[in-house]
Amino acid sequence: MKKGKVTLIGAGPGDKGLLTMKGYEALKQSDVVVYDRLVSKDILDLSPENAEMINVGKVMNHHNIPQPEINKILLEKALFGKNVVRLKGGDPFVFGRGGEELELLLKNNIEYEVIPGITSAVSALAYAGIPVTHRDYASSIHFVTGHAKDGLVENINFKSLVDGGGTIIFYMGVSTIKQLVKGLLEAGMEKDMPCVAVENGTRANQRSLFSDISNICEKAEEFKLKSPAVIAFGRVCSLGNKFDYFTKNKLFGKKVIVSRAKVSNNKLTDKLKYYGADVLDFVNMEIKPVDDKSHLSYLIDNLKDYASLVFSSKNSVINFFNELYSKNKDSRALSHLKIIVIGKSSSDELLKYGIIKDFMPKEFDNVSLAKAYKELNIQGKVAVLEAENDIASIYKAFIDNNIDVELFECYKIEYLPYENTALFNDYIEKNAVAAFTSGAAVHGFVTTCNIKDFSKIRAVCIGKATYKKAQNYNFNAYMAEKPTIDSLIEKISEME
Ligand code: SAH
Repeated sequence: MKKGKVTLIGAGPGDKGLLTMKGYEALKQSDVVVYDRLVSKDILDLSPENAEMINVGKVMNHHNIPQPEINKILLEKALFGKNVVRLKGGDPFVFGRGGEELELLLKNNIEYEVIPGITSAVSALAYAGIPVTHRDYASSIHFVTGHAKDGLVENINFKSLVDGGGTIIFYMGVSTIKQLVKGLLEAGMEKDMPCVAVENGTRANQRSLFSDISNICEKAEEFKLKSPAVIAFGRVCSLGNKFDYFTKNKLFGKKVIVSRAKVSNNKLTDKLKYYGADVLDFVNMEIKPVDDKSHLSYLIDNLKDYASLVFSSKNSVINFFNELYSKNKDSRALSHLKIIVIGKSSSDELLKYGIIKDFMPKEFDNVSLAKAYKELNIQGKVAVLEAENDIASIYKAFIDNNIDVELFECYKIEYLPYENTALFNDYIEKNAVAAFTSGAAVHGFVTTCNIKDFSKIRAVCIGKATYKKAQNYNFNAYMAEKPTIDSLIEKISEME
Protein backbone atom coordinates (compact mmCIF):
# COMPACT_ATOMS: atom_id res chain seq x y z
CA MET A 1 0.00 0.00 0.00
CA LYS A 2 1.11 3.56 -0.69
CA LYS A 3 2.62 5.26 2.33
CA GLY A 4 1.43 8.69 3.26
CA LYS A 5 3.35 11.75 4.26
CA VAL A 6 3.48 13.95 7.35
CA THR A 7 3.89 17.70 7.07
CA LEU A 8 4.73 19.57 10.23
CA ILE A 9 3.31 23.05 9.85
CA GLY A 10 3.88 26.02 12.09
CA ALA A 11 0.50 27.71 12.38
CA GLY A 12 1.93 30.91 13.86
CA PRO A 13 0.63 32.69 16.94
CA GLY A 14 -3.06 32.94 16.06
CA ASP A 15 -3.77 35.64 13.49
CA LYS A 16 -4.64 33.59 10.42
CA GLY A 17 -2.81 36.04 8.17
CA LEU A 18 0.43 34.93 9.82
CA LEU A 19 0.22 31.36 8.51
CA THR A 20 2.81 31.03 5.72
CA MET A 21 1.63 30.57 2.14
CA LYS A 22 3.48 27.26 1.99
CA GLY A 23 1.74 26.15 5.18
CA TYR A 24 -1.62 27.18 3.77
CA GLU A 25 -1.07 25.28 0.52
CA ALA A 26 -0.03 22.14 2.40
CA LEU A 27 -2.99 22.39 4.78
CA LYS A 28 -5.39 22.56 1.83
CA GLN A 29 -4.05 19.23 0.56
CA SER A 30 -4.45 17.34 3.85
CA ASP A 31 -6.55 14.24 4.56
CA VAL A 32 -5.90 14.34 8.31
CA VAL A 33 -5.13 17.34 10.51
CA VAL A 34 -3.59 16.63 13.91
CA TYR A 35 -3.63 19.87 15.91
CA ASP A 36 -2.77 21.40 19.24
CA ARG A 37 -4.70 23.53 21.68
CA LEU A 38 -2.79 26.65 20.63
CA VAL A 39 -3.81 26.54 16.98
CA SER A 40 -6.46 29.19 16.41
CA LYS A 41 -9.91 28.31 15.13
CA ASP A 42 -9.44 30.69 12.19
CA ILE A 43 -6.58 28.53 10.97
CA LEU A 44 -8.35 25.22 11.64
CA ASP A 45 -11.20 26.57 9.52
CA LEU A 46 -8.83 26.67 6.54
CA SER A 47 -8.60 22.85 6.57
CA PRO A 48 -10.45 20.96 3.82
CA GLU A 49 -14.07 20.34 4.73
CA ASN A 50 -13.72 16.55 4.60
CA ALA A 51 -10.37 16.30 6.41
CA GLU A 52 -10.32 14.23 9.59
CA MET A 53 -9.62 16.61 12.46
CA ILE A 54 -7.79 15.16 15.47
CA ASN A 55 -7.38 17.35 18.52
CA VAL A 56 -4.37 16.17 20.49
CA GLY A 57 -4.29 19.27 22.66
CA LYS A 58 -7.33 18.00 24.48
CA VAL A 59 -6.87 17.45 28.15
CA MET A 60 -7.73 13.84 29.09
CA ASN A 61 -8.35 13.34 32.81
CA HIS A 62 -6.34 16.53 33.41
CA HIS A 63 -3.37 15.15 31.46
CA ASN A 64 -2.41 16.13 27.96
CA ILE A 65 -2.35 13.31 25.43
CA PRO A 66 1.14 11.83 25.98
CA GLN A 67 3.71 12.61 23.31
CA PRO A 68 4.32 8.92 22.33
CA GLU A 69 0.60 8.65 21.69
CA ILE A 70 0.69 11.62 19.30
CA ASN A 71 3.74 10.19 17.52
CA LYS A 72 1.82 6.96 17.06
CA ILE A 73 -1.23 8.70 15.59
CA LEU A 74 0.98 10.44 13.01
CA LEU A 75 2.67 7.18 12.08
CA GLU A 76 -0.53 5.17 11.80
CA LYS A 77 -2.34 7.70 9.66
CA ALA A 78 0.66 7.98 7.34
CA LEU A 79 0.91 4.18 7.09
CA PHE A 80 -2.68 4.17 5.90
CA GLY A 81 -1.57 6.33 3.01
CA LYS A 82 -2.98 9.58 4.36
CA ASN A 83 -1.60 13.00 3.73
CA VAL A 84 -1.19 14.06 7.35
CA VAL A 85 -0.73 17.62 8.51
CA ARG A 86 0.59 18.17 11.98
CA LEU A 87 -0.43 21.73 12.89
CA LYS A 88 1.39 23.33 15.77
CA GLY A 89 1.18 26.78 17.31
CA GLY A 90 4.00 29.18 16.44
CA ASP A 91 6.98 27.35 14.97
CA PRO A 92 7.06 23.54 15.26
CA PHE A 93 10.71 23.47 16.34
CA VAL A 94 10.50 26.23 18.94
CA PHE A 95 9.45 24.52 22.16
CA GLY A 96 7.11 22.50 20.00
CA ARG A 97 8.54 19.00 20.27
CA GLY A 98 8.68 18.93 16.47
CA GLY A 99 11.93 17.00 16.61
CA GLU A 100 10.47 14.29 18.81
CA GLU A 101 7.60 13.77 16.40
CA LEU A 102 9.93 13.18 13.48
CA GLU A 103 11.94 10.40 15.19
CA LEU A 104 9.32 7.69 14.80
CA LEU A 105 8.55 8.72 11.21
CA LEU A 106 12.21 8.55 10.30
CA LYS A 107 12.50 5.12 11.86
CA ASN A 108 9.56 3.89 9.80
CA ASN A 109 10.72 5.48 6.60
CA ILE A 110 7.75 7.82 6.34
CA GLU A 111 8.20 10.86 4.15
CA TYR A 112 7.99 14.15 6.03
CA GLU A 113 8.39 17.87 5.57
CA VAL A 114 8.71 20.78 7.98
CA ILE A 115 7.16 24.15 7.24
CA PRO A 116 8.34 26.71 9.78
CA GLY A 117 5.93 29.12 11.41
CA ILE A 118 6.17 32.52 13.01
CA THR A 119 7.08 32.00 16.61
CA SER A 120 5.01 33.71 19.26
CA ALA A 121 7.80 35.50 21.09
CA VAL A 122 8.70 37.64 18.10
CA SER A 123 5.17 38.13 16.76
CA ALA A 124 3.33 38.74 20.06
CA LEU A 125 5.92 41.35 20.96
CA ALA A 126 5.65 42.94 17.52
CA TYR A 127 1.87 43.19 17.88
CA ALA A 128 2.44 44.83 21.26
CA GLY A 129 4.65 47.35 19.49
CA ILE A 130 8.01 46.00 20.64
CA PRO A 131 10.90 45.23 18.27
CA VAL A 132 12.79 42.34 19.88
CA THR A 133 16.12 43.87 18.89
CA HIS A 134 17.05 47.51 18.51
CA ARG A 135 20.50 48.94 17.90
CA ASP A 136 20.18 51.28 20.91
CA TYR A 137 18.86 48.69 23.35
CA ALA A 138 19.49 45.04 22.53
CA SER A 139 21.71 43.17 20.15
CA SER A 140 20.67 39.64 21.08
CA ILE A 141 17.48 37.74 21.87
CA HIS A 142 17.21 34.78 24.18
CA PHE A 143 14.26 32.41 23.93
CA VAL A 144 13.83 30.51 27.18
CA THR A 145 11.27 28.04 28.41
CA GLY A 146 9.83 29.00 31.77
CA HIS A 147 8.25 25.60 32.08
CA ALA A 148 9.18 24.03 35.39
CA LYS A 149 10.29 20.42 35.58
CA ASP A 150 9.20 19.02 38.95
CA GLY A 151 8.01 22.50 39.91
CA LEU A 152 11.45 24.11 39.56
CA VAL A 153 13.08 26.27 36.92
CA GLU A 154 16.53 25.70 38.37
CA ASN A 155 18.25 24.58 35.19
CA ILE A 156 17.99 28.03 33.65
CA ASN A 157 21.36 29.78 33.62
CA PHE A 158 20.07 33.19 34.74
CA LYS A 159 23.58 34.58 35.12
CA SER A 160 24.51 34.08 31.50
CA LEU A 161 21.14 35.41 30.36
CA VAL A 162 21.52 38.62 32.36
CA ASP A 163 25.18 39.05 31.42
CA GLY A 164 24.26 38.72 27.75
CA GLY A 165 22.40 42.02 28.05
CA GLY A 166 19.88 41.22 25.31
CA THR A 167 16.12 40.75 25.28
CA ILE A 168 15.09 37.70 27.30
CA ILE A 169 11.76 36.15 26.35
CA PHE A 170 10.12 33.36 28.30
CA TYR A 171 7.63 30.93 26.82
CA MET A 172 5.37 29.00 29.19
CA GLY A 173 6.29 31.29 32.07
CA VAL A 174 2.93 32.40 33.47
CA SER A 175 2.79 29.94 36.35
CA THR A 176 6.50 30.28 37.15
CA ILE A 177 6.80 34.04 36.82
CA LYS A 178 7.86 34.54 40.45
CA GLN A 179 10.72 32.07 40.12
CA LEU A 180 11.82 33.66 36.85
CA VAL A 181 11.84 37.18 38.30
CA LYS A 182 13.70 36.00 41.39
CA GLY A 183 16.30 34.22 39.25
CA LEU A 184 16.89 37.29 37.05
CA LEU A 185 17.17 39.71 40.00
CA GLU A 186 19.54 37.43 41.88
CA ALA A 187 21.67 37.21 38.74
CA GLY A 188 22.03 40.99 38.82
CA MET A 189 19.34 42.35 36.50
CA GLU A 190 18.65 46.05 37.23
CA LYS A 191 15.57 46.54 39.39
CA ASP A 192 14.03 49.01 36.94
CA MET A 193 14.43 46.74 33.90
CA PRO A 194 11.34 47.22 31.70
CA CYS A 195 9.33 44.11 30.93
CA VAL A 196 6.11 43.09 29.24
CA ALA A 197 3.77 40.14 29.27
CA VAL A 198 1.73 39.65 26.10
CA GLU A 199 -1.25 37.34 26.47
CA ASN A 200 -2.99 35.89 23.39
CA GLY A 201 -0.62 37.77 21.15
CA THR A 202 -1.84 38.66 17.63
CA ARG A 203 -5.37 37.57 18.52
CA ALA A 204 -8.40 39.79 18.93
CA ASN A 205 -8.25 39.26 22.69
CA GLN A 206 -4.57 40.24 22.97
CA ARG A 207 -3.65 41.96 26.25
CA SER A 208 -0.33 43.50 27.18
CA LEU A 209 0.97 44.23 30.63
CA PHE A 210 3.85 46.71 30.82
CA SER A 211 5.88 46.96 33.99
CA ASP A 212 9.39 46.88 35.40
CA ILE A 213 10.83 43.70 36.80
CA SER A 214 10.33 44.75 40.43
CA ASN A 215 6.57 45.09 40.04
CA ILE A 216 5.67 42.56 37.36
CA CYS A 217 4.63 39.72 39.70
CA GLU A 218 2.20 41.84 41.65
CA LYS A 219 0.81 43.46 38.50
CA ALA A 220 0.43 40.07 36.76
CA GLU A 221 -1.74 38.90 39.62
CA GLU A 222 -3.97 41.98 39.47
CA PHE A 223 -4.13 41.65 35.67
CA LYS A 224 -5.02 37.96 36.05
CA LEU A 225 -2.40 37.07 33.46
CA LYS A 226 -3.25 33.79 31.78
CA SER A 227 -1.58 31.38 29.40
CA PRO A 228 -0.72 31.59 26.52
CA ALA A 229 1.56 34.52 27.19
CA VAL A 230 5.15 35.40 26.52
CA ILE A 231 7.03 37.41 29.12
CA ALA A 232 9.92 39.58 27.98
CA PHE A 233 12.60 41.45 29.94
CA GLY A 234 14.85 44.05 28.36
CA ARG A 235 15.26 47.72 27.46
CA VAL A 236 13.28 47.25 24.22
CA CYS A 237 10.16 46.77 26.31
CA SER A 238 10.15 50.49 27.10
CA LEU A 239 9.27 51.10 23.42
CA GLY A 240 5.93 49.31 23.60
CA ASN A 241 3.65 52.24 24.15
CA LYS A 242 5.39 54.21 21.46
CA PHE A 243 5.05 51.67 18.64
CA ASP A 244 1.78 50.06 19.61
CA TYR A 245 -0.47 49.89 16.57
CA PHE A 246 -2.46 46.67 16.86
CA THR A 247 -4.62 47.77 19.76
CA LYS A 248 -5.26 51.03 17.91
CA ASN A 249 -6.94 49.14 15.07
CA LYS A 250 -10.40 50.60 14.66
CA LEU A 251 -12.37 47.62 15.99
CA PHE A 252 -9.85 46.31 18.51
CA GLY A 253 -11.53 45.40 21.79
CA LYS A 254 -15.00 45.19 20.20
CA LYS A 255 -16.90 41.95 20.46
CA VAL A 256 -19.22 41.19 17.57
CA ILE A 257 -21.56 38.28 16.94
CA VAL A 258 -22.09 37.65 13.24
CA SER A 259 -25.30 35.76 12.64
CA ARG A 260 -24.93 34.00 9.35
CA ALA A 261 -25.38 31.09 7.01
CA LYS A 262 -22.93 28.24 6.57
CA VAL A 263 -20.63 29.31 3.75
CA SER A 264 -16.95 28.75 3.16
CA ASN A 265 -15.96 32.35 3.61
CA ASN A 266 -17.81 35.30 4.96
CA LYS A 267 -16.87 38.80 3.92
CA LEU A 268 -18.27 40.49 7.00
CA THR A 269 -16.46 38.19 9.44
CA ASP A 270 -13.19 38.53 7.54
CA LYS A 271 -13.39 42.32 7.44
CA LEU A 272 -14.34 42.62 11.10
CA LYS A 273 -11.36 40.48 12.04
CA TYR A 274 -9.11 42.46 9.76
CA TYR A 275 -9.98 45.57 11.75
CA GLY A 276 -9.22 43.75 15.00
CA ALA A 277 -12.73 42.84 16.26
CA ASP A 278 -13.22 39.76 18.41
CA VAL A 279 -15.80 37.93 16.30
CA LEU A 280 -18.07 35.05 17.19
CA ASP A 281 -19.31 33.38 14.03
CA PHE A 282 -22.84 32.39 14.93
CA VAL A 283 -23.59 29.98 12.10
CA ASN A 284 -27.27 29.25 12.42
CA MET A 285 -28.62 28.63 8.94
CA GLU A 286 -27.92 26.82 5.76
CA ILE A 287 -29.02 27.81 2.27
CA LYS A 288 -30.39 24.96 0.17
CA PRO A 289 -32.22 24.60 -3.14
CA VAL A 290 -35.99 24.32 -2.80
CA ASP A 291 -37.36 20.76 -2.73
CA ASP A 292 -39.85 21.38 -5.48
CA LYS A 293 -38.19 23.14 -8.36
CA SER A 294 -41.09 22.85 -10.78
CA HIS A 295 -42.14 26.50 -10.47
CA LEU A 296 -38.61 27.79 -10.98
CA SER A 297 -38.23 25.41 -13.84
CA TYR A 298 -41.44 26.80 -15.38
CA LEU A 299 -39.98 30.32 -15.18
CA ILE A 300 -36.82 29.27 -16.96
CA ASP A 301 -38.79 27.56 -19.72
CA ASN A 302 -40.98 30.63 -20.17
CA LEU A 303 -38.63 33.57 -19.68
CA LYS A 304 -39.98 35.10 -22.92
CA ASP A 305 -43.25 35.89 -21.09
CA TYR A 306 -41.52 38.16 -18.56
CA ALA A 307 -40.16 41.67 -18.79
CA SER A 308 -37.88 41.73 -15.79
CA LEU A 309 -36.25 39.70 -13.03
CA VAL A 310 -35.70 40.85 -9.47
CA PHE A 311 -32.93 39.08 -7.56
CA SER A 312 -33.59 39.56 -3.87
CA SER A 313 -30.20 38.29 -2.68
CA LYS A 314 -26.95 36.69 -3.68
CA ASN A 315 -28.51 33.31 -2.91
CA SER A 316 -31.31 33.88 -5.36
CA VAL A 317 -28.72 34.62 -8.05
CA ILE A 318 -26.74 31.46 -7.28
CA ASN A 319 -29.77 29.17 -7.17
CA PHE A 320 -31.39 30.69 -10.25
CA PHE A 321 -28.26 30.15 -12.33
CA ASN A 322 -27.79 26.62 -11.00
CA GLU A 323 -31.21 25.82 -12.35
CA LEU A 324 -30.61 27.69 -15.60
CA TYR A 325 -27.36 25.80 -16.22
CA SER A 326 -29.00 22.49 -15.36
CA LYS A 327 -31.25 23.13 -18.35
CA ASN A 328 -28.27 23.73 -20.56
CA LYS A 329 -28.99 27.43 -20.89
CA ASP A 330 -26.83 30.42 -19.98
CA SER A 331 -27.10 34.17 -19.45
CA ARG A 332 -28.04 34.73 -23.10
CA ALA A 333 -31.49 33.47 -22.15
CA LEU A 334 -31.88 36.67 -20.11
CA SER A 335 -30.93 39.14 -22.83
CA HIS A 336 -34.42 40.61 -23.26
CA LEU A 337 -35.00 41.09 -19.51
CA LYS A 338 -34.40 44.08 -17.29
CA ILE A 339 -32.40 42.91 -14.30
CA ILE A 340 -33.07 44.41 -10.89
CA VAL A 341 -31.05 43.55 -7.80
CA ILE A 342 -31.52 44.20 -4.13
CA GLY A 343 -28.15 44.86 -2.60
CA LYS A 344 -24.58 45.08 -3.74
CA SER A 345 -23.81 41.46 -2.96
CA SER A 346 -26.51 40.38 -5.46
CA SER A 347 -25.10 42.69 -8.10
CA ASP A 348 -21.54 41.48 -7.45
CA GLU A 349 -22.71 37.88 -7.72
CA LEU A 350 -24.47 38.60 -11.02
CA LEU A 351 -21.27 39.94 -12.50
CA LYS A 352 -19.77 36.48 -12.06
CA TYR A 353 -22.34 35.29 -14.61
CA GLY A 354 -21.46 38.13 -16.96
CA ILE A 355 -24.49 40.27 -16.19
CA ILE A 356 -24.54 43.93 -15.22
CA LYS A 357 -27.66 44.95 -13.35
CA ASP A 358 -30.03 47.49 -14.85
CA PHE A 359 -31.25 48.87 -11.57
CA MET A 360 -30.72 48.70 -7.82
CA PRO A 361 -33.09 50.63 -5.54
CA LYS A 362 -31.70 52.98 -2.90
CA GLU A 363 -33.73 51.37 -0.12
CA PHE A 364 -33.99 47.60 0.09
CA ASP A 365 -37.24 47.14 2.00
CA ASN A 366 -40.13 45.69 0.02
CA VAL A 367 -42.29 48.81 -0.03
CA SER A 368 -39.48 51.05 -1.31
CA LEU A 369 -38.50 48.41 -3.84
CA ALA A 370 -42.00 48.15 -5.26
CA LYS A 371 -42.32 51.96 -5.49
CA ALA A 372 -38.94 52.30 -7.19
CA TYR A 373 -39.84 49.50 -9.57
CA LYS A 374 -43.09 51.24 -10.50
CA GLU A 375 -41.14 54.36 -11.46
CA LEU A 376 -39.05 52.36 -13.90
CA ASN A 377 -42.20 52.00 -15.92
CA ILE A 378 -41.39 48.56 -17.25
CA GLN A 379 -44.21 47.11 -19.34
CA GLY A 380 -44.92 43.45 -18.70
CA LYS A 381 -44.57 40.94 -15.95
CA VAL A 382 -41.92 40.89 -13.27
CA ALA A 383 -40.56 37.67 -11.76
CA VAL A 384 -39.21 38.05 -8.25
CA LEU A 385 -36.73 35.42 -7.09
CA GLU A 386 -37.00 34.97 -3.37
CA ALA A 387 -36.34 32.69 -0.43
CA GLU A 388 -39.00 30.08 0.26
CA ASN A 389 -40.15 31.63 3.50
CA ASP A 390 -39.95 35.30 2.61
CA ILE A 391 -42.78 35.65 0.17
CA ALA A 392 -45.84 37.37 1.63
CA SER A 393 -44.80 40.95 2.23
CA ILE A 394 -42.97 41.42 -1.06
CA TYR A 395 -45.99 40.16 -2.97
CA LYS A 396 -48.28 42.63 -1.21
CA ALA A 397 -45.92 45.54 -1.87
CA PHE A 398 -45.93 44.89 -5.63
CA ILE A 399 -49.68 44.29 -5.81
CA ASP A 400 -50.34 47.51 -3.88
CA ASN A 401 -48.52 49.31 -6.67
CA ASN A 402 -50.51 47.57 -9.38
CA ILE A 403 -47.51 45.70 -10.69
CA ASP A 404 -48.02 42.45 -12.53
CA VAL A 405 -45.83 40.29 -10.34
CA GLU A 406 -45.08 36.61 -9.91
CA LEU A 407 -42.95 35.20 -7.11
CA PHE A 408 -40.60 32.27 -7.45
CA GLU A 409 -39.19 30.34 -4.56
CA CYS A 410 -35.59 30.05 -5.46
CA TYR A 411 -33.90 28.65 -2.36
CA LYS A 412 -34.76 27.73 1.18
CA ILE A 413 -33.20 28.54 4.53
CA GLU A 414 -32.78 25.80 7.09
CA TYR A 415 -32.09 26.92 10.62
CA LEU A 416 -29.42 24.89 12.37
CA PRO A 417 -28.98 24.04 16.03
CA TYR A 418 -26.05 25.82 17.67
CA GLU A 419 -23.78 23.83 19.91
CA ASN A 420 -21.53 26.35 21.58
CA THR A 421 -24.09 28.01 23.84
CA ALA A 422 -21.57 28.73 26.61
CA LEU A 423 -19.36 30.71 24.26
CA PHE A 424 -22.36 32.55 22.82
CA ASN A 425 -23.56 33.50 26.30
CA ASP A 426 -20.09 34.73 27.18
CA TYR A 427 -20.15 37.17 24.24
CA ILE A 428 -23.64 38.34 25.19
CA GLU A 429 -22.58 38.89 28.80
CA LYS A 430 -19.62 40.91 27.58
CA ASN A 431 -22.01 43.19 25.74
CA ALA A 432 -21.19 42.02 22.21
CA VAL A 433 -22.85 43.78 19.28
CA ALA A 434 -24.92 41.58 16.94
CA ALA A 435 -24.26 42.28 13.24
CA PHE A 436 -27.01 41.47 10.75
CA THR A 437 -26.83 41.54 6.97
CA SER A 438 -30.35 40.24 6.33
CA GLY A 439 -33.72 39.69 7.93
CA ALA A 440 -33.09 35.95 7.75
CA ALA A 441 -29.95 36.44 9.85
CA VAL A 442 -32.05 38.21 12.50
CA HIS A 443 -34.53 35.39 12.43
CA GLY A 444 -31.72 32.81 12.64
CA PHE A 445 -30.30 34.54 15.70
CA VAL A 446 -33.63 34.72 17.47
CA THR A 447 -34.72 31.17 16.80
CA THR A 448 -31.36 29.55 17.52
CA CYS A 449 -30.19 31.21 20.73
CA ASN A 450 -31.53 30.62 24.22
CA ILE A 451 -32.39 34.27 24.94
CA LYS A 452 -35.93 35.61 25.25
CA ASP A 453 -35.42 39.33 25.82
CA PHE A 454 -33.38 41.02 23.10
CA SER A 455 -33.86 44.59 24.27
CA LYS A 456 -30.38 44.86 25.75
CA ILE A 457 -28.61 43.54 22.67
CA ARG A 458 -27.36 46.14 20.24
CA ALA A 459 -28.18 45.01 16.73
CA VAL A 460 -26.35 46.72 13.87
CA CYS A 461 -28.26 46.20 10.63
CA ILE A 462 -27.25 46.64 7.02
CA GLY A 463 -30.49 48.10 5.65
CA LYS A 464 -34.01 49.18 6.42
CA ALA A 465 -35.66 45.75 6.06
CA THR A 466 -33.12 44.11 8.36
CA TYR A 467 -33.43 47.01 10.77
CA LYS A 468 -37.21 46.65 10.89
CA LYS A 469 -36.95 42.93 11.51
CA ALA A 470 -34.57 43.57 14.42
CA GLN A 471 -36.93 46.18 15.82
CA ASN A 472 -39.82 43.72 15.60
CA TYR A 473 -37.90 41.38 17.85
CA ASN A 474 -37.26 44.27 20.19
CA PHE A 475 -33.50 44.50 19.68
CA ASN A 476 -31.78 47.78 20.47
CA ALA A 477 -31.45 48.32 16.71
CA TYR A 478 -29.07 50.56 14.75
CA MET A 479 -28.85 50.98 11.00
CA ALA A 480 -25.74 51.51 8.88
CA GLU A 481 -25.70 54.80 6.93
CA LYS A 482 -25.44 52.90 3.65
CA PRO A 483 -26.41 49.29 2.89
CA THR A 484 -22.84 48.07 2.56
CA ILE A 485 -20.51 45.95 4.67
CA ASP A 486 -18.07 48.87 4.99
CA SER A 487 -20.80 51.14 6.30
CA LEU A 488 -21.92 48.46 8.75
CA ILE A 489 -18.37 48.23 10.03
CA GLU A 490 -18.17 52.01 10.30
CA LYS A 491 -21.30 51.99 12.45
CA ILE A 492 -19.83 49.34 14.76
CA SER A 493 -16.62 51.32 15.09
CA GLU A 494 -18.58 54.38 16.25
CA MET A 495 -20.25 52.42 19.06
CA GLU A 496 -18.95 52.44 22.62
N1 SAH B 1 5.89 26.52 19.19
C1 SAH B 1 5.32 27.64 19.85
C2 SAH B 1 5.57 27.60 21.35
C3 SAH B 1 4.87 26.48 22.05
S1 SAH B 1 5.12 26.51 23.77
C4 SAH B 1 5.86 28.93 19.23
O1 SAH B 1 6.79 28.89 18.42
O2 SAH B 1 5.32 30.00 19.53
C5 SAH B 1 3.65 27.33 24.32
C6 SAH B 1 3.95 28.74 24.72
O3 SAH B 1 4.02 29.58 23.59
C7 SAH B 1 2.87 29.38 25.58
O4 SAH B 1 2.99 29.00 26.95
C8 SAH B 1 3.20 30.84 25.40
O5 SAH B 1 4.29 31.21 26.18
C9 SAH B 1 3.62 30.88 23.95
N2 SAH B 1 2.53 31.30 23.06
C10 SAH B 1 1.94 30.58 22.09
N3 SAH B 1 1.00 31.31 21.43
C11 SAH B 1 1.01 32.52 22.01
C12 SAH B 1 0.28 33.72 21.78
N4 SAH B 1 -0.65 33.82 20.81
N5 SAH B 1 0.55 34.79 22.56
C13 SAH B 1 1.49 34.72 23.52
N6 SAH B 1 2.19 33.61 23.79
C14 SAH B 1 1.97 32.53 23.05
